[in-house]
Amino acid sequence: MIGVVAPEQDMPVIREFFELFKTPWEICRSSKHYDVVLAASTEGTLPDADLSVVYGLDPQDRAREKDLDQARPAVLLRYREHRFPIYGGCSVLNSDGKRVIDQEATGKIVGSMIPGSGGRIVRIGYDLFKEVRFLLLNGQPTEYALMPTLDLHISILRDLIVESGIPLVEIPPVPAGFDMILCLTHDVDFASIRSHGLDRTVIGFLYRATIVSFVHFLKGQLTIGKLVGNLLAAFSLPLVHIGLVCDFFNQFEKYMRIEGSIRSTFFVVPYKNLDGEEFGDQYSKGRATRYDVEDIGPQLSALVAKGCEIGLHGINAWNDTDMAESERERIQEAAHSTVAGVRSHWLFWSERTPEVLEDAGFSYDSSFGYNETVGYRAGTCQVFQPLNAEKLLELPLHVQDTALFSSGRMGLSQHDGIEKIDELLRWIRQGRGVTTVNWHLRSIGPERQWDKAFKHLLQLADDPRVWVASAQDVVQWFASRRLVQFGEIDLDTGRSLVSSKGTETTPRIAVRLYNHHGTATSEAEHVSLSERSRTAG
Ligand SMILES: [Zn+2]
Repeated sequence: MIGVVAPEQDMPVIREFFELFKTPWEICRSSKHYDVVLAASTEGTLPDADLSVVYGLDPQDRAREKDLDQARPAVLLRYREHRFPIYGGCSVLNSDGKRVIDQEATGKIVGSMIPGSGGRIVRIGYDLFKEVRFLLLNGQPTEYALMPTLDLHISILRDLIVESGIPLVEIPPVPAGFDMILCLTHDVDFASIRSHGLDRTVIGFLYRATIVSFVHFLKGQLTIGKLVGNLLAAFSLPLVHIGLVCDFFNQFEKYMRIEGSIRSTFFVVPYKNLDGEEFGDQYSKGRATRYDVEDIGPQLSALVAKGCEIGLHGINAWNDTDMAESERERIQEAAHSTVAGVRSHWLFWSERTPEVLEDAGFSYDSSFGYNETVGYRAGTCQVFQPLNAEKLLELPLHVQDTALFSSGRMGLSQHDGIEKIDELLRWIRQGRGVTTVNWHLRSIGPERQWDKAFKHLLQLADDPRVWVASAQDVVQWFASRRLVQFGEIDLDTGRSLVSSKGTETTPRIAVRLYNHHGTATSEAEHVSLSERSRTAG
């Protein structure tokens, strides 16, 4: 059991932190002995514990931080082979104890064992819960997108506890028997090139399908097959308009074919020709889409019949509860299916958005990601609850095809895009949570033809250690994990009692125990780990 010493105003962040690091904890009661005490500041006396981890800036640094504005640069720290940014400042420690964390630029110590404490006190010179609050509310700037900062905060604390020899039980963020979750989603920004007439989109399409494709072919970046495919598409455009050739912006059927039995999620725009409201510096000009949801109703119904999920690709839902309700209603009518979740078109999002969507009855949002790059905006690959929401959960978005391959964004080749995806997966595959992918509807047709990287992701579905699920199923699984309560746990024999207020969860929730026997993971139930398979860790 972890005892937490922290000011009252940190409680919402602390509660969310321990939904992500799902392990028994409570607010410290001073008379009690704890396995671990986590202190959120350097002030006050520490309760009795086998291990105390004391976070926080030194008083003089804290006073200086108050005078700085929000736009201060992040400080990069190093923990083992990992690098991660700190956004609220950090204190350099004058310590000759065992080094845990240091500053990348200077090598100065930011986290260390306190000398003479027998390894029982660790001091870390930043404010953990201020960092977590920043990650969940503001998100990381794009330059640190590839760093799973919040997940690393959890890892550091877990390592400190486990390596001190203190038994620990936790509910991993992946189901029993799996190493990761893959969630494939498709934003439907374009569903028919016919509906565009000869606008900017079509002129851009013709330019890229002919001149740009030819240049890429000459540079060896495009195969002859893809070049021919793009040229044919460009020259067949009049035939598309008179209905003799299939509309290549509409790739529902190809997705159904290549995804097979995978339950993916399609986010659909409710109203055509609507830019929507602007927010701050997020201009909405050019945001309108041209297809009408009613025109694709039969295809949406076919997707639902196959087991896919239809969500709302919101225009004004992010900012207006009434609009969120009517936008959802329109999609539900066209798809003949209930809509549980939303992803905002162009990822429009404000601090108010979770509250607005929650009031409109949505159970999740999946807009917290980047348009310009791939990675962890909230620093995590776990589903989390935004700090101003009470029920709504956020499925963070990690990979967008347009971010990887569009010129003006990362502009990568298919090959380099696959490498970037694999770089992300190396972290996520270690039992860290979910990879949420957005491959736009038209992206596997001409002129984009971004099939290769998508098929690379699809190969993951053949791995029995990867659970592939729709956005709604993933969110529901994490919601069930949040309902788990820890009962009495005998950390020596490994008997643990875990109860869930929810119904039976599929796939099953796991319990992981670290003790002097090693590490063991088994399905949660009224589980007895000692009676089940145990693997040395
Ligand atoms: Zn969109």
